[in-house]
Amino acid sequence: MQASFMVVANWKMNGCRDRVTNLSHELITRCGFLNQPKIVLCPPYIYLERVQETLASSKISLGAQDLSCENNGAFTGNISGEMLVDVGVQYVIIGHSERRLNNAETNDIILKKLSIAQFQGMTSIFCIGENIVEKQLGNTFKAIDHQLKPVITLIKNDPSIKCIVAYEPVWSIGTGCSASVQDVERVNKYIKQIFNDLNYPIKIIYGGSVNEMNIEQFVAIKSLDGVIVGNASLSADKLINICMRVEKQTMNTLADIV
Ligand code: PEP
Repeated sequence: MQASFMVVANWKMNGCRDRVTNLSHELITRCGFLNQPKIVLCPPYIYLERVQETLASSKISLGAQDLSCENNGAFTGNISGEMLVDVGVQYVIIGHSERRLNNAETNDIILKKLSIAQFQGMTSIFCIGENIVEKQLGNTFKAIDHQLKPVITLIKNDPSIKCIVAYEPVWSIGTGCSASVQDVERVNKYIKQIFNDLNYPIKIIYGGSVNEMNIEQFVAIKSLDGVIVGNASLSADKLINICMRVEKQTMNTLADIV
């Protein structure tokens, strides 16, 4: 576990005005001023501003679930990076497997999105991860190599890019079947080596069926800088429990070091 551990809540296409407001209010009341973990809430676009208003004086940050690969113009239905920054977004999820699959997002599109996020000064939460077939064929690293291409291209061009890699094996998302500690450590080691060779201090977070029962095993992984939580982040109690457990475990670890 690293000095600063992140919990990113990906609410996906869930909630309504009241639910989203209540969820963020409850979280702020109980976790809004914790030094650990660093919490990022990613509501649906339409509720970004509402959540931002509730977060105002807390330590919790606002994230978006995606952005357009275009800057502005005749792109009906799209939301630009500039618009996100305008409403207070600091983090943006890019390349989530649901978007790669359902919206046919290719590496070219993802590269454009990463470039725009970089230009707008947001931190990209860049998702990668193998699907079940790739895992079964032993092709996890091959899949990761392919998915990492856009971010490697950008870093070579501009090492000041702000990017966090989210390792989210597709087979673990929303299935209740999280990756093992060994799986995560093995993949983290592989990713870290790639970024070490580029002299880029990469942070890696894990996503895939993280909940309040298994969070501690992920916090204990030294090479891991945080988690991204989908389903469990839709319940205030579950999300608060996750954050509280991270806080407690972090404090205990720091006390052991001192
Ligand atoms: C996700 O889709 O980013 C995610 C982590 O989902 P879940 O926690 O539901 O597996």
